[in-house]
Amino acid sequence: MELIFGLSFLLLGIIFGSFINAWVWRIENNLSVAKGRSICPHCKHKLAWYDLVPVLSYITLKGKCRYCKAKISRQYPIIELTTGLLFMSTYILLSPASIQGWVQLGIILLISILLVAAYIYDAKHMELPEIFMLPAIALGVVYFGLNIIWQGYTAMIPQSIAIAVFVLAYVALWYFSKGQWLGAGDIRLAAIMALVLTPKQLLVGVFAAYLIGSIYGVFIIIKSKKKRGVKVPFGPFLIIGFYFGLFFGTQIANWYLSFI
Ligand SMILES: [Zn+2]
Repeated sequence: MELIFGLSFLLLGIIFGSFINAWVWRIENNLSVAKGRSICPHCKHKLAWYDLVPVLSYITLKGKCRYCKAKISRQYPIIELTTGLLFMSTYILLSPASIQGWVQLGIILLISILLVAAYIYDAKHMELPEIFMLPAIALGVVYFGLNIIWQGYTAMIPQSIAIAVFVLAYVALWYFSKGQWLGAGDIRLAAIMALVLTPKQLLVGVFAAYLIGSIYGVFIIIKSKKKRGVKVPFGPFLIIGFYFGLFFGTQIANWYLSFI
């Protein structure tokens, strides 16, 4: 039964991954998400359902458009598989056994759809659009509010402090660097992380984000042989950090604390 549920969430995530790809593409091209059929961006040929099967179409078409043989971006199957794995892992991590657990899982999966979309957009355009970030913040507030109702306010005081400290630190960084080190989108992302993650998960997640981000930054500087003017969006690393904290934060923090 567990296995069937796990595989169902994998499949569900792959389908949502396909939706995310289409959604981001439509936002990049200023199209409405509800209107119009999918087309090949190269030859504008309308795509049939069998061209749009997540992952499988990419494999059977060998990564090329059926009609004009233009290369299809690897982004599509990678995002589909990643979203599938995220959905499955989140289900296994939370393994809901009550209505509360299923509600929490549902909210985190909805936030994940928005964060994966934000990840793609920020990696490509160095911007975290409001259309992804604002609904994700709203979902984060609902998630945190439900935790207060279910666990009682006193149990949530440490996280309330963590949210205030973390978001204020980001606002201060943004203010004093005049928006040079981070953008308004990063503050929103920080708020989403703090609303969903426990303080331990948040600390580990943020640490992981900066560690991975700096390693990547050094790698890019070496590769481009430039010392200045290399801009790397930080949003994707915070999003990776969010999942790192969610999945491993509690264990890593407890392990670290056991030495003190
Ligand atoms: Zn084509």
